[in-house]
Amino acid sequence: MAKRLLRGTLRLWGGRAPPCLPPASSLARLDPRAAVGTVFVTNGWLCDIVIVVAITNREAHSPAHGISLFLVENGMKGFIKGRKLDKIGLKAQDTAEFFFEDVRLPAGALLGEENKGYYYLMQELPQERLLISEIAVSASEFMFEETRDYVKQRKAFGKTVADLQTVKHKLAELKTSICVTRAFVDSCLQLHRVKRLDVATAAMAKYWASDLQNRVAYDCLQLHGGWGYMFEYPIAKAYVDARVQTIYGGTNEIMKELIAREIIHDQ
Ligand SMILES: Cc1cc2nc3c(=O)[nH]c(=O)nc-3n(C[C@H](O)[C@H](O)[C@H](O)COP(=O)(O)OP(=O)(O)OC[C@H]3O[C@@H](n4cnc5c(N)ncnc54)[C@H](O)[C@@H]3O)c2cc1C
Repeated sequence: MAKRLLRGTLRLWGGRAPPCLPPASSLARLDPRAAVGTVFVTNGWLCDIVIVVAITNREAHSPAHGISLFLVENGMKGFIKGRKLDKIGLKAQDTAEFFFEDVRLPAGALLGEENKGYYYLMQELPQERLLISEIAVSASEFMFEETRDYVKQRKAFGKTVADLQTVKHKLAELKTSICVTRAFVDSCLQLHRVKRLDVATAAMAKYWASDLQNRVAYDCLQLHGGWGYMFEYPIAKAYVDARVQTIYGGTNEIMKELIAREIIHDQ
């Protein structure tokens, strides 16, 4: 399995199953009594192999010490793909639902060490959130440029929309917010490069940049007028694609929890 992954012949989904996933009562064995599932699996429809997070020790002194990661291959008995979900945006990538029923895994399916799953996830989640913040600020820059081009050529009341002072001020506000966010996200990239990006800082980047992306999407679509609502203009697609950014990777409300936890912890 590992060789095929390295060769790139297996498509991978890395995702978290819900907390109700049954315990692997011993190494790499899921509880045969329960059928459980998880929704919203990015690339779930196309993938050949998934990383599943399962409870492996219910007696651990905290849930964080009792979960492990497993590689589950497409076609394994009891691993069932459900529907390909119909999203409002991000149409180019699929999102599917999975079900697990009496799945039995060989010991070799364990990824890393038993009961260390939480630590592996904590190491990787800041990178996922950094990626979302990078996408958010890049999408904001794209939407801004599209809108700048549009308002400079669109004529209304004998002059271009860009000549209106309220529009100029809106562009100035958007540009400032995007530049400030770009500087912060770039500083997070630098921290990540030297392995110093912590959970709270990554959460700040994800929450701030994805909130900004949605504000930019809203304002830029507005500046396109009626054409902004039509898919023939890229701003329409950018608008619907932006919406999920505050939701996946952990919602922005959860990001604020993570930031606050660090603030309180420091006192
Ligand atoms: C398109 C898409 C792709 C996805 N891909 C993946 C994937 O590949 N892998 C994966 O693991 N997950 C994936 N997800 C799941 C995604 O991470 C979750 O949807 C997200 O974390 C929110 O969880 P939920 O949907 O259960 O919302 P809920 O937890 O039900 O939240 C509902 C609302 O309550 C709020 N809320 C919940 N708890 C708190 C709290 N403690 N404090 C304040 N507010 C709270 C939330 O912020 C939200 O506004 C994907 C989701 C989507 C939409």
